[in-house]
Order: sequence, then C-alpha cells, then structure tokens
Amino acid sequence: MEFRDLKRQYQLHRTQIDTAIKDVLAQTNFIHGVQVMQLEEELAQYVGVRHCITCANGTDALQLALMTWGIGEGDAVFVPDFTFFSSGEVVSIMGATPVFVDIDLDTYNISVDSLDKAICYVIEHTDLRPKVIVSVDLFGQPADYRRIRNLANKYHILVLEDGAQGFGGKIGERKACSFGDIATTSFFPSKPLGCYGDGGAIFTDNNEWAEKLRSYCVHGRGEDKYDNIRIGVNSRLDTIQAAVLLEKLHFLDEEIEMCNLIAAKYTEQLHSFVKTPVIATDVLSSWAQYTVCFKNDAERCSVIQNLREKGIPSAIYYKKPMHLQKAFQPYRFKDLECVVAESVSSRCLSLPMHAYMGIGDAAHIAENIVKSI
Ligand SMILES: *Cc1c(COP(=O)(O)O)cnc(C)c1O
Repeated sequence: MEFRDLKRQYQLHRTQIDTAIKDVLAQTNFIHGVQVMQLEEELAQYVGVRHCITCANGTDALQLALMTWGIGEGDAVFVPDFTFFSSGEVVSIMGATPVFVDIDLDTYNISVDSLDKAICYVIEHTDLRPKVIVSVDLFGQPADYRRIRNLANKYHILVLEDGAQGFGGKIGERKACSFGDIATTSFFPSKPLGCYGDGGAIFTDNNEWAEKLRSYCVHGRGEDKYDNIRIGVNSRLDTIQAAVLLEKLHFLDEEIEMCNLIAAKYTEQLHSFVKTPVIATDVLSSWAQYTVCFKNDAERCSVIQNLREKGIPSAIYYKKPMHLQKAFQPYRFKDLECVVAESVSSRCLSLPMHAYMGIGDAAHIAENIVKSI
C-alpha cells in the first residue's frame, strides 16, 4: 500500500502523459514553450482569477508574492504555527518578521481569534508594521476566508493564500487560490495537483501585481530578459512539467471526488475513537492529507507501529510547530502562545490518502487503527 500512489495514477493515464512529454521533446521548447502559456490560461480559468503566473516551486511562489508587495524589514507577517516550513521561511528570507499564530483544533487551519489577538499584540507591543496574513489551506481545506477577510479589511492587511495543499478545494462555488489578494500553489508531486518534478504557480486578479510577478520571476525583466528593471530571481516552470500538468488537470476533479469518498469512510469508522478532521460547512477539501489526532504521543506511536506491521504507511505532518523550529528562535514572541499547535503536533498522524486506493482499503486501515488503541 502506498501513502500517495503516484505510480497507479501514471499507469492509468500513461498514454496521454507520455504523448504530452514526447511532444515537448520533439519541439525542444523546454523553457517558455506554448504549453506553459496554455497551462497558465487553463489554471486561471479553473481557479476563476484573471492572472496565473507559473514558477519553479511553491516556495518561490510565496517569495515572489512578498517581493511584489515590497515586504521587508520592519514588517510583520502572520503565519499559522502548524504548516510546512516554507510558509514562514519566505518571510524571513525577505527580512520581515514572521509572527506565528495558533490554529483551530477542528480544521488545523489558522485560528482567526488568535490571529486577531496577534495583530493587536503587534500593534500595541512592537515597532513592527502588520502587513500580510499567510493563510494556509492546510491538508486540502481552504482557511476561514470569510472571517480572515474581515480582519484583513479592519487592519488594512494583505492576504497571501498559501494554497500549496489546497488546490482544487472550494468554499461554496469559489475555488481555492482565488481567496488571497495573491494566492500560490505548489506542483510538488504529492500535492493535490502534482507534476513530475518541482513546479509552482501564483494567482491574482490585480493587473499591476501580475505584471510585477512576471518581471520578478525572470530576473526582474523589463522589455525583455536583457532589460532588467528590478532585482528578481530565476523561477520558471519548464515546458515538460507544464505538459504533464495540462494532462493531469483533466482528471483532478474526479480524483478529489474519490478522495472525499475515502475521507468519508475514514471519518465514519474512526470518529468515535480518535479526533477526525472537521470540514467546515459548504467547504470542499482536496484532501492533500487525512490527519487524525490521538490522545497522546504514546498512543500515536503504538498505532504507527501496528500499522507498519500490517504494511500500512503513515506520516506525521507536522512533528514540530513553527515557533519551536530552531531556525525561527530569533522571532519568538513569548506572549503569543500556540497551545493547540503544540498539542496537535504531538498527537497527529496522517493516513494514506489518494484517489487510487479503494473505500475497502480505507475501511481496512481504520479497522487496524481501532484495534491498536
Ligand atoms: C509544499 C508546500 C509549500 C512549498 O512548496 P514547494 O513546491 O515544495 O516549494 C509551501 N507551503 C505549503 C503549505 C506546502 O505544503
């Protein structure tokens, strides 16, 4: 059994994907091929925003957004305490200060009450300017954008949606990566929409930011690559990855539908025994991960062990909250506690989740978990 079965996905769609890759090889248009432009158009249309700019990976996508907004020294950027390292790393790269915010126990996403408190704290007790909220769509579920938007308006803060795990999710009829002033995603192979290497994309409705993003990702280009009007980076999605993604985009919604059936089965069998994920009303998760919480680390360890003996893989996302990472020690605000993030990271476990396992597999895994606690 695979944690995320990329092999089966490839075997099932092999003909189309191989043809798409061979076309690029024949055209030898490895950088800036027409497939890249076509993908950007299709992604923008899928998400329902005006502009999509592809880039080399999801971390660069976040950094490019912060560059475009001119975020730097003296700026406070609010980041959930429970996420992948990148969400906070890019803030530090830009010389700004990450302020880690506790999460909601049910959704694992940023707690909007804690966010409000953190913004007030920064205003009252520091010299930092509150500038950006990095709202992460963790494990596939969009963050609580109705309330995040209210706060952003109240304090005049920008929303950067880190949709690396949330691509394909929805609130009502609105798709993930349309909620931030700028939104980003990652095409790392195991993400909901993954390519066959590294890749990322940035989304926005704002024309001026879109133009800057296009410049920053190609060495700060002006008229062309050899006219440089700002200091940028080299961050592009290559044509082979774009060709693969164009094919995979066709069946993404189908995969997400299947993942939702798997998730429903897990929840049905597990909710009386462990803390299962809660999806907010009117929200569709793209299920980058299905993550449960046990009573404590000891119970988690024994479950991992028992599953392993049955050949069932599992993974801990994430073992350490951001504020406890060594790299972030210089940024600690002792008054802003993240007790939920600390608790969840000591008890959480992510289970196999992909469109190519059966409902029966989910039932079998759930049974083994119930037996081990
Ligand atoms: C994967 C991920 C990223 C980074 O994406 P890369 O393409 O690996 O750089 C950023 N944020 C979150 C929440 C992620 O899961």
